[in-house]
Amino acid sequence: MNRISVLNTRLANQIAAGEVVERPASVVKELLENSLDAGAKRLRVDVEQGGAKLIRVRDDGAGIHKEDLALALSRHATSKIRELEDLEHIASLGFRGEALASISSVSRLALSSRAGSSSESSGWKVAVSGQDMAPTIEPVAHEQGSTVEVRDLFFNTPARKKFLKTEKTEFGRIDEVIKRLALSRFDVQFTLQHNQRQVHQLLPANSEAEKRRRISLVCGPAFVEHAIQLDRQGPELRLWGWVSLPTFSRSQADLQYFYVNGRIIRDKVVTHAVRQAYRDVLFHGRHPAYVLYLELAPEAVDVNVHPTKHEVRFRDSRLVHDFLFSSLHKALADVSPEAQLASHENSIPAMAGGDEGSALSLERQQSSLQLQEPASAYRHSYSPPPDRGELRSELAFTTRLYEEDTEVPPLGYAIAQLHGIYILAQNAQGLIIVDMHAAHERITYERLKAACEREELKRQPMLVPLSIAVSEAEAGCAEAEQKALFALGIELERVGPESIVVRQIPSILTDSNVEQMIRDVLSDVIEYGSSDRIVAHQNELLSTMACHGSVRANRQLSIPEMNALLRDMEATERSAQCNHGRPTWVYQSLDELDKLFLRGQ
Ligand code: ADP
Ligand code: MG
Repeated sequence: MNRISVLNTRLANQIAAGEVVERPASVVKELLENSLDAGAKRLRVDVEQGGAKLIRVRDDGAGIHKEDLALALSRHATSKIRELEDLEHIASLGFRGEALASISSVSRLALSSRAGSSSESSGWKVAVSGQDMAPTIEPVAHEQGSTVEVRDLFFNTPARKKFLKTEKTEFGRIDEVIKRLALSRFDVQFTLQHNQRQVHQLLPANSEAEKRRRISLVCGPAFVEHAIQLDRQGPELRLWGWVSLPTFSRSQADLQYFYVNGRIIRDKVVTHAVRQAYRDVLFHGRHPAYVLYLELAPEAVDVNVHPTKHEVRFRDSRLVHDFLFSSLHKALADVSPEAQLASHENSIPAMAGGDEGSALSLERQQSSLQLQEPASAYRHSYSPPPDRGELRSELAFTTRLYEEDTEVPPLGYAIAQLHGIYILAQNAQGLIIVDMHAAHERITYERLKAACEREELKRQPMLVPLSIAVSEAEAGCAEAEQKALFALGIELERVGPESIVVRQIPSILTDSNVEQMIRDVLSDVIEYGSSDRIVAHQNELLSTMACHGSVRANRQLSIPEMNALLRDMEATERSAQCNHGRPTWVYQSLDELDKLFLRGQ
């Protein structure tokens, strides 16, 4: 064994850096968090070669006093906490006093700053050198605020450097860090440059419209168009933000931003609560998108769990889980056709104004730009009818009258049925197309659930008991789960090794194909196992029942029947998606129809 010796300062810091400085994006995160902690309102990030060559963060925050500059670069030095109790109600993003020391041990770092309150007329710059990381301070011209310049990251730790990916990948991660922080502080301006080219300029967003615009730039306009805004205040908690309508789901969990007291986190409790809230409405294997902010007393959450502070520990995680679940569940249940139509009207026109050049938005604009191109190509050869403008304003006028006086319901009135599948309806602003089966399925499902909850699911005896030939396993299952099935409104009996007789079914399902429904329910029960699991899967069973109990394609509906369905949809929770997460209706405004026909271009 070697004898024991104390590590030199640089090596000790390099070891600490192993935890927090994984890649250029981690440097950007730490530096920006420092700037935000310093009260900065304008942040500028310059990056070269994916951050491997240069990362420069400049802010207009409080700055650092000359006497404190050297300390800022040493480990276990912080202005954010003083004693143990402070750890219990952290309001700043940083508090470990490690970031600058760690980063400067694995790069060439220079920190320039000028404190606002100081009488000094110029700023000061500090850098460290050698194994003991001795600081050198010199005067420098600087406005109030700080600039941290990090060059040649990992130049002295080649093992780390080897792990860096391509410039594009590393820059992508930096971009993601900026996006996360930009969503956490709407009031702050963010500018990002890569290889001297501006990638983002996000102006401060104070009004609701500006916030929506920032969300649109960061998450793409489609998200904003298909998101529900919520704000719920509990006794000790507040949850606000935007969640996607179930029909705007994603194949990956890549558009999920969750903030706890302004800090982005990933947390199992949160993920589970969100998934559960979407369970009933999301297409299988799809992920919801959200930007959510949870606010609670700092004492109720421990942020000192992980060096990068991406994780937190809730003091009462049950409370947080239930609050999240119930808030989101309600928000999703409350999506009425009215609300959805309103969000349709508010949707932000793609790519409005000054943020051109934003890599992420450019990419996301592609599809909508492509849609518009043919239109502009035709523009020269096609002249719109001259009276279009008049017609339009007249229409708007009558529409308004219509709205005020007769109150056209949100989903309008049915005009026709298309191919036995779709209902066409006209509302005050345009065309509604309803998938008749999908809509009816949701309505039936919600009714079944409500009835089940009230425990008064009405059973109706079959006129002639229905005997069904089944497999032995199915018959056994039917026998074993008789009670549970009865609770679901199905009374049946095993009458032989491979046969059962159905005597009663939920009255709501009398019109449906009972045999098929029973088979599906049994196969579900077999798949999900014992009876206590039935309770858990009750909704799934109800969903299966609803699917088979709902109007199938090719059934002719009368206009009054169609209108009744539309009114039912307006009154039913979660009516915008069928039980499998597919949309039940879509809307085309007159403006959109006009575009299809190149009217008024
Ligand atoms: P921590 O953020 O955990 O305190 P850091 O190593 O990141 O630790 O920073 C050390 C100290 O340097 C901070 O506590 C803060 O006082 C000061 N500091 C760092 N960056 C800035 C900045 N951009 N503006 C003002 N002060 C800063
Ligand atoms: Mg810090």
